Amino acid sequence: MKDFRSLSEIRSEIGAGKLTVFQLTEHYLQNINEKNGRLNAFLSIYSDSALKQAKAVDQKIASGKAGKLAGMIIGIKDVFAYENHRLQCASNILEGFSSQYTATAIQKLIDEDAIIIGHQNCDEFAMGSSNENSAFGVSRNPIDESRVPGGSSGGSAVAVGADMCQVSIGSDTGGSVRQPAAFCGLIGLKPTYSRISRYGLAAYASSFDTVGIISKSVEDAALVLEVMAGEDEFDSTVSSQPVPDFSKRNAGGKYKIAYFKETIDHDGLDSQIKECTLEVIDQLKSAGHEVEEVQFDLLEYILPTYYVLTAAEASSNLSRYDGVRFGKRAKSENLEEMYKMTRSEGFGTEVKRRIMTGTFVLSASYYDAYYSKAQKVRRLIRDETNAILDKYDFIISPTTPTTAFKIGEMNENPMQMYLEDLYTVQANVVGIPAISVPVGFDNQRLPIGVQLMSKSFNESELLEISNQIITFKDQNR
Ligand code: GLN
Repeated sequence: MKDFRSLSEIRSEIGAGKLTVFQLTEHYLQNINEKNGRLNAFLSIYSDSALKQAKAVDQKIASGKAGKLAGMIIGIKDVFAYENHRLQCASNILEGFSSQYTATAIQKLIDEDAIIIGHQNCDEFAMGSSNENSAFGVSRNPIDESRVPGGSSGGSAVAVGADMCQVSIGSDTGGSVRQPAAFCGLIGLKPTYSRISRYGLAAYASSFDTVGIISKSVEDAALVLEVMAGEDEFDSTVSSQPVPDFSKRNAGGKYKIAYFKETIDHDGLDSQIKECTLEVIDQLKSAGHEVEEVQFDLLEYILPTYYVLTAAEASSNLSRYDGVRFGKRAKSENLEEMYKMTRSEGFGTEVKRRIMTGTFVLSASYYDAYYSKAQKVRRLIRDETNAILDKYDFIISPTTPTTAFKIGEMNENPMQMYLEDLYTVQANVVGIPAISVPVGFDNQRLPIGVQLMSKSFNESELLEISNQIITFKDQNR
C-alpha cells in the first residue's frame, strides 16, 4: 500500500473508491504485526475495536456523515487515559491499571471519527530523551535500529515513521514530541501551554506538560490540533482563546525571524546540524524573510531551571502512586513498609532520581536556594523570550544538538542525556508553541530537524512557516 503523507491523500483514495478505512486499518495492523517485535513501538494493540470502528466509519463515509478525522488511524502514548484500556505510563508501578475514563484530547479525536489503534511505548512517566527508561524496554529507530528514536514519546515517533499509524499523540514537557520527531524525520508539534486539555494525561510536571502531535505532514498536525484544542470543563487551565481553523492557513507570508548566536555557537552542537540550520536560515533569507542574529544571555540557565522545576513538580505529582490507589501493591503486613516497597519496586531509576531531586529542592532548607530561585529565573527567561517575540515572529534553532544516538551510548551520565534537551525546553519553560520540521540528513543518513518557536497562541503562523521550510527541503532533494 502507498505511504500516505496526509489524511487528505487517504480521503481522496477513499473518495475514488480505491480504498476503505477497513483496508487501511488492516494495513497498519499488518505492519504492526510484522515490525513491532523488533521496533517495540506499541505496548498494546487494539485490533478488534479498531477494525470494528473502521467498518462503522466506512458506513458513515458512505452516508455522508463522516467526521473531520474519518480515515485517520492514530496511536496514543502510554500516558493518555482511554476508557477500559490499560494505562501504565511505561512503568511497573501502574501494573494492572485500567482507565475509567478517556482523556479529553483523545475523546475529541474519537468524536471526529479517528480510530485509536493502540498505546505506544515511551520513557517511564515521560521522563527521558531516548525511550530507554521504559519498563518495557527501548523502542528502536526505524531508520537505524541500533539507534534510539528519541524520547520520551519514542514509540509514538517510531510508529509514524514505520507506517504503523498515520499520526501519534504524544506529550511534550521539555521536548518529548519534537526531539523524537527530529530523530525519526517527522513533524513534531508542541502547541501553546493550555491550548489543549490535560484532563486524562498522566501528570509529570503540570506547569510544563503539553499534549503534542507527531505526523508526516504539517497538514495533518494542523487538522489534529484543530480538533483537540479548546476549552474543557474538566481542565480549568485550558485557555478560552478562540481556536482558529488551523487547517485553512494563509500561504506565503513574509516574516521576521531571530536566531541566537549562543545556540549556533554552542560547544555541544554537532557540526553537521549547525551547517544544516545555517543553510535553512540562508534559504529563508533567499525566500524574502528577514532573519537576524540576536543575543540571548540566558541560554545556559534554561536547562537547570527546567530540571529543578520539573523534578519538583514530578515529586509532588508522583506521590499519588502509593500502592493503595493505583496499580501495583507490594506485599507487606505493615502499611508504611507497603508504601516504601511499592515505590521502590515500582519506579525505575530515572523516575526515582527525579523524585529524589524534586523532594530535595522542595525541602524546607533548600527551597529558597533552588525551587524559589528557579521560579524567578523562569520568569526572567519568559520575559526575555517574549520580548524577543514582540519584535520577531519566530525564533529558529536546531531541534537537537545531535542526531539519533546509539542505544546505550548516553546511559552512563544522566547530565549528558539532559543536554539533549538543550534547545527544546525553552518553549516549555515559557509556555509558547514550537515545532520541529525535518530539513535534511547527516552523512550517516540520520534525519536533522530545525525548531521554530513563536508567540503564545500563534500556531497558525508556526504551521505556515513550517510548510514553507518543508518546500525548501523538497527543492533540495
Ligand atoms: N527529556 C525531557 C525530560 O526528561 C523531556 C521529557 C518530556 O518532554 N516529557 O524531562
